[in-house]
Amino acid sequence: MSQEIISLAQRVLQVPPSPTLAVNAKAKALKAAGEDILNFSVGEPDFATPKHVCEAGKKAIDDGHTGYTAVPGIPELREAVCMRLKEDHGWEYTPEQIQVSCGGKHGLYNIFQAILDPGDEVLIPAPYWVSYPPMVQLAGGVPVPIDLDESLDFDLNPETLTTHATDKTKAIFLNSPSNPTGAILSETALKAVAKMALEHGWLIVTDDIYETVTYMEGDLPHILDVEPRLKEQTIILNGVSKSFAMTGWRIGYCAGPAHIIKAMNKVQSQSTSNPCTPAQYAALTALTGSQDFPETMKEAFIPRREFFVKELESIEGVTCVNPSGAFYVFPNFSAYYGKSFKGKQINDSVAMSDYFLDEAKVASVPGAAFGSDEFVRFSFATSMEVIKEGMERIKMALAALEG
Ligand SMILES: *Cc1c(COP(=O)(O)O)cnc(C)c1O
Repeated sequence: MSQEIISLAQRVLQVPPSPTLAVNAKAKALKAAGEDILNFSVGEPDFATPKHVCEAGKKAIDDGHTGYTAVPGIPELREAVCMRLKEDHGWEYTPEQIQVSCGGKHGLYNIFQAILDPGDEVLIPAPYWVSYPPMVQLAGGVPVPIDLDESLDFDLNPETLTTHATDKTKAIFLNSPSNPTGAILSETALKAVAKMALEHGWLIVTDDIYETVTYMEGDLPHILDVEPRLKEQTIILNGVSKSFAMTGWRIGYCAGPAHIIKAMNKVQSQSTSNPCTPAQYAALTALTGSQDFPETMKEAFIPRREFFVKELESIEGVTCVNPSGAFYVFPNFSAYYGKSFKGKQINDSVAMSDYFLDEAKVASVPGAAFGSDEFVRFSFATSMEVIKEGMERIKMALAALEG
């Protein structure tokens, strides 16, 4: 056995690599090896970036926009973010209150590097997006999951806030619509969060990346509409990855109090300098051009969502909350835990997801990755044919379980 001479940092040892990216890589490798894999693990739209946005990226290169930019992004893009926040929501922001980062994920990373001291606690409603707890841990903080109840459609129960808050609580994550559940937080839940945040001076980190993908009637409830006084203690995270199918361009942005943005800029200046320059110009076109594209994608998601949920619900023992937004279903398979295939027992979401991949050639993400072991996540950012075939395979795989 080879001996490793250099030890790794505890900070890094305590966090796992992103499980969603890992499953996706495994599915892609199996597919490349000739296996007939249906991939439901991906967390990105199955659409190409709109043409006019691609053209803007190419033009930026041709126009010589290939050097460094200002650390928080080009002023035009930060102004465009302010314009969208004003037009879409009526919120007033100035460019000093905006940071553009290398994808939304990196914006979140910057936030926690900027605000956390060792031992500071961050409340994270669970199921949560896989990267929230590691980002808090990498900044020396302590993630504190708050379990959301499937029977309440994964809305936040106000009482659980008081039982998880301590004098070390520094911030709380909101993600509505949520990845992985698709749930939208109710106004009642948001009011309860607002009350606690005002009383205790918490920072609210609201991840709005799926705001354009909602299936509900009326306006999406938002913490800043519920309680405008929270503006000085709220950071909005958004980006073009999901709304404009631009995951590979790596452009996200944060809007928040100027002193926090300034500290985040310090972190960014010492790590990535600035987000990719031509990509910033492409994002500028996405934000200032026609806003029809997110709507077009949503129209495609609607029938898939309907079909997926109906089919899952028709399986004995399986429950599935109808997602109010985003492009994932998050069914509960725990009724099948304890059953076996060829003598091998399935006892958790990792085993369930492995079973789907090995026997049904269906790639999914185990709920454990999102802090909820009874569930498995499937993305419906894939064609209706793939969903139909996938459902047949899932049903057959479940029916083959014994015990
Ligand atoms: C995709 C996603 C993001 C942002 O991803 P980037 O690719 O880094 O822009 C942020 N939050 C959630 C919940 C997501 O699913």
